[in-house]
Parts: sequence; structure tokens; C-alpha cells
Amino acid sequence: MLRASSFEQKRQLAKIRKPVDRGEWVTTPQTVNAYYDAPMNDITFPAGILQSPLFDPAMDDAPNYGNTGGTIGHELTHGFDGEGRQYDAKGNLKNWWSKKDEQAFNERTQCLIDQYAQYTVVDDIKINSKLTLGEDLADLGGLVLALVAWKAAIADNPPPDRDGYTPMQRFFIGMAQWGCENSRAEDLRVRAATDTHSPNKYRVNGLVANFPEFEQAFACKPGQAMAPVKRCKVW
Ligand SMILES: [Zn+2]
Repeated sequence: MLRASSFEQKRQLAKIRKPVDRGEWVTTPQTVNAYYDAPMNDITFPAGILQSPLFDPAMDDAPNYGNTGGTIGHELTHGFDGEGRQYDAKGNLKNWWSKKDEQAFNERTQCLIDQYAQYTVVDDIKINSKLTLGEDLADLGGLVLALVAWKAAIADNPPPDRDGYTPMQRFFIGMAQWGCENSRAEDLRVRAATDTHSPNKYRVNGLVANFPEFEQAFACKPGQAMAPVKRCKVW
């Protein structure tokens, strides 16, 4: 470990005054995660996350767009969240938004802050939705993008129902399946204070609540928990 750290330290220091390597990843190929890098203005999807049950080449478009499409959209949207929007196209910290856009952005994101603040993590602890705003925003923008992309992909060739579900139901089920988890109350407590992500339950249920397509696909009644009358829309 010491030799590996020493090697890495030297490798990092050797970058000083050299041109930035825009092809470099700051993750390993087998990592099951993806990221957006604001100074690079790029997204990275290592092989680890492009595997079943997240991305499954043997499955059809509906679950793959809902799941991996949503994650790709999530990372892209980070370029336009509260932090990413402060960087320009070249990755320099530079405000390129008009005052009007900035104000509209803040008004719209307040809706998400209010929505997620209602959700209980455990006992009397609610989501600290100012902490999770960037990720909640990325989830919302990401699924909007995935839906647009999927609708375009199937426009000329609408898929049939499968396994007793409509294509739109399977898009949302595919999305929800990335979030399956079993957390202990102690872990939820720690993460409520430190994690910039909302608990997966709300990254799924809170997210779909903002989609009229979900209400329609699952025949929810307006006003039910996942089909609120007031929805948040940012992009
Ligand atoms: Zn994220």
C-alpha cells in the first residue's frame, strides 16, 4: 500500500505544468458507479455500472432507458445543478447564466427543496433537502432526459406489453430497480447527516411523483402520495 501510494503521489505531482489529460478517469473500470466532473465537463461510465441488473443488453429498451438512461441523464444534469452550472463549457469556474435564468432556477429548485423536506428518513429525522438538492435535481433532470430519449427511440416502433406490464410501466419499474436496498436505522441516521443523496426509497418514490406519465401509467388518483397535485419541474 505504501509503495502504491508513493507511486500515485509521484504520478500526480508529475502533472504539474503539463497539459491536462482530458481522457483520464478518476475511477476504476470495475467500479459500479458513474460521475460528472465539472472541471473536465465530462461524464464517466466505467464498465462496472454497464452490467446487469443495471444495464442488460439482453433486455429491451424500456427498462434500460429507465435505469441506465436515467443514470446517464443524472450525470449530465449535474452539469446544470447548483454546483455544475457555475462552470462554463471548458470547465472553468465562470458564471455564464443571466440573472433572470438564475432567479428562475432558484425558484424552481425551491419546489424540490420543499418536496424532499417532507420525507422521513427514520424516526423523527427528515431529509435535509438543502444538502440533497444537487442529487435530487440530477435525478429529476436525468429521468426527464431518459424519457425524452426513450420516447424518440420507440416512436416508429412502439413496443408491446411484456410480463403483464405496459412499456411505460416497465420504464419506471426498470428505473426503480437500481434503488433496491436494505438499510439499518443506524446507517440511515448517519447518512441523513452526511450523504448528499436522499435515501433510495425517496430517490424512487419522490422522483416519480413529479411525472404525470407515472400517474397515468399506474392509474394513480390525483392527490395520492405519488401523484401530487403540485409537481416540481425544473427543466
Ligand atoms: Zn449524482
